Amino acid sequence: MNDEQSRALYDRALSVMPGGVNSAVRAAIEPYPFFVRKGDGGHVIDADGNRYVDWVMGLGPLLLGHDLPEPVQAGIQRRASEGPMYGAPTEVEVDLAEFVVRHVPSVEKIRFVNSGTEATTSAVRLARGYTGRDKVVVMQGGYHGAQESTLVEGDHENPKPSSAGIPAAFAEHTLPVPFNDEAAMTEVFEEHGDDIAAVLAEPILANYGIVHPVPGYLEFLREITEEHDALLLFDEVITGFRVGGLGCAQSEFGVTPDVTTFGKIVGGGFPVGAIGGRAEIVEQFTPSGDVFQAGTFSGHPVTMAAGLETLTFAAENDVYEHVDRLGERLRAGLTEILADRAPNYTVVGTGSMFKVVFTREGPGGGREGHCEAGCTQNPDCPRYDYCPKNAADVKRAETERWRRIFWGKMKEQGIFLSQNQFESQFVSYAHTEEDVDRTLEAYREAL
Ligand SMILES: *Cc1c(COP(=O)(O)O)cnc(C)c1O
Repeated sequence: MNDEQSRALYDRALSVMPGGVNSAVRAAIEPYPFFVRKGDGGHVIDADGNRYVDWVMGLGPLLLGHDLPEPVQAGIQRRASEGPMYGAPTEVEVDLAEFVVRHVPSVEKIRFVNSGTEATTSAVRLARGYTGRDKVVVMQGGYHGAQESTLVEGDHENPKPSSAGIPAAFAEHTLPVPFNDEAAMTEVFEEHGDDIAAVLAEPILANYGIVHPVPGYLEFLREITEEHDALLLFDEVITGFRVGGLGCAQSEFGVTPDVTTFGKIVGGGFPVGAIGGRAEIVEQFTPSGDVFQAGTFSGHPVTMAAGLETLTFAAENDVYEHVDRLGERLRAGLTEILADRAPNYTVVGTGSMFKVVFTREGPGGGREGHCEAGCTQNPDCPRYDYCPKNAADVKRAETERWRRIFWGKMKEQGIFLSQNQFESQFVSYAHTEEDVDRTLEAYREAL
């Protein structure tokens, strides 16, 4: 596989951009990432002309793949040709807001912003403003973007900033606990209950190998927050409009948070974020309330059109049926391959998300009674005690083998997987059964 052009581009990039990239994870590929020339359906073509089946899909936003259907393209192009933005409201913002309110159980009102990071930053400020409390409980390994309040590591007794440049005082107000751990959460509420503004959690830990909640965990989060007059914030930046279709993961699990953050798919491939929730809470944003929130590009007409046309297309076509079916086919195929090649590894994911976590231990024996297409945390499954329950479990996996050996073997076979063990992989409407079968062949070869 020739990579001269990518190498030359990365050489230039290193001179003018830190690490040669505009977002850190893109440089996780060693010795250098391939540069993408263009997308084509479920594939990407790199600067040297190599073609890959693309399961990264922009790291989540591209529900429809790279070739946008005609009405989506037309909507975007019309908006762009009418002048990109105005600093005054437009009808398309109202249209997209109405669409989300109609479909997502927790959302009565919504504010659009420009990234998932901005959405979670504003949601945390909103929760603090609404409750008059400072502390926020987060999940270890949960990702809520590049923001000061959630770039925290350690545990609730000793939280520390996970990045240089963040004052320790910020981390003091953030309490990390393990996902799926009711006892740890109960302890935190016993200790800090009156100071906790919110629990902020992805309903599925989707940035850390994909960890499904154990039965009852999300219901437990709903109850304990209610008991203590704290808010439940679901970060659905990844799962929103992907898991559970247009109702998002909250409708799939039947647990309704007070506030939900969105990003990725809701902008149809353009920069976006959003904060939705109960009217009396979201109303606390300025100008109706006194929690400051503003943005030059917020509700950008081109983004709003892309989001609205994408979701409308998904509502009127078999998009979720297609991506979920191929996701199932991938996970089921991977489960069979692992039984044969790497029985300790775990297939994770649901709907159109999938990943293999290189877990080090398994129950041995056959596959009798195992989840057939991705871990659903079934307590009766013989693998239950071995499947990752939280970020620490994923971190203990063979992450170096994944990144240094396995990823490259897949790339050589023309399969583009996400850059490390932790990022999810996504099926799009443009992927085909042939893409799935080719990918399964490649896994069989690489494992
Ligand atoms: C991607 C992501 C974010 C950050 O969104 P950006 O648009 O990259 O700022 C926040 N939360 C979750 C769950 C995400 O997956």
